[in-house]
Amino acid sequence: MSTEMSKDVACPECGAAVRTEMWPGIRAESDPQLRARALDETLFDWKCPKCGCKARFLYPCLYHDKSRGFMVYLAPNGSGAEFQPVDVGERFPQLAGVKKRVVASPAELKEKILIFEAGLDDCAVELVKYALASVLEEKYGRKAVRGYFSGADADRISFLFFPEGESGPVLRRTTMDGYRKSLEIARRFRRPEGNEFVPVDSVTARDILAEYRGAQPAAPEAPEKESAGETKEKKEGEQPGCAD
Ligand SMILES: [Zn+2]
Repeated sequence: MSTEMSKDVACPECGAAVRTEMWPGIRAESDPQLRARALDETLFDWKCPKCGCKARFLYPCLYHDKSRGFMVYLAPNGSGAEFQPVDVGERFPQLAGVKKRVVASPAELKEKILIFEAGLDDCAVELVKYALASVLEEKYGRKAVRGYFSGADADRISFLFFPEGESGPVLRRTTMDGYRKSLEIARRFRRPEGNEFVPVDSVTARDILAEYRGAQPAAPEAPEKESAGETKEKKEGEQPGCAD
């Protein structure tokens, strides 16, 4: 069962005290409707019944998908400090093999759910995202402030980027080959999965790439020749594999 609680929240518009239900602990299997709300990012939507004011009411929330073996702790901006990482493996040995992540926003929570439900490795996904964001910035001069995994099939992996000063997102895709190369790098250079909740994000990707590049021979190997049929997007996807 998920954990439900409620408390009075003051409406920012009319000041009314509104009894608001909260879900500090979500069990994906027993409450599929909460999973759906996490995925359409309505989990934290809040509305005042008196004046109709709409807002987002954020609070720390632990999302647990037992069958897929992952937990994501949402520590909203500024409240991360209140979350003291505990060695959950010691206190709850049954959680030792579970992936444990901490995120700062509902969009990041949704992203982690999508990645793990797709059976992908979030570290490798972050490496691909990092490479695509670099191409977007260096080649097209569009610096993405945020970017999220949006889906994958047998051939392609997709992301939505939000470039600075632009109103809508930009879709960028690359081949799953790019993902698989990133997965090899991630497996070699990331920190082993521990018992604490950790962020796996662009900083993680940057650190892994730095280690990867540091481990390359001093004289970089010549890049493989591209075959004529390869697309531009594929080239971008192979970015994490480049030894520069
Ligand atoms: Zn109100």
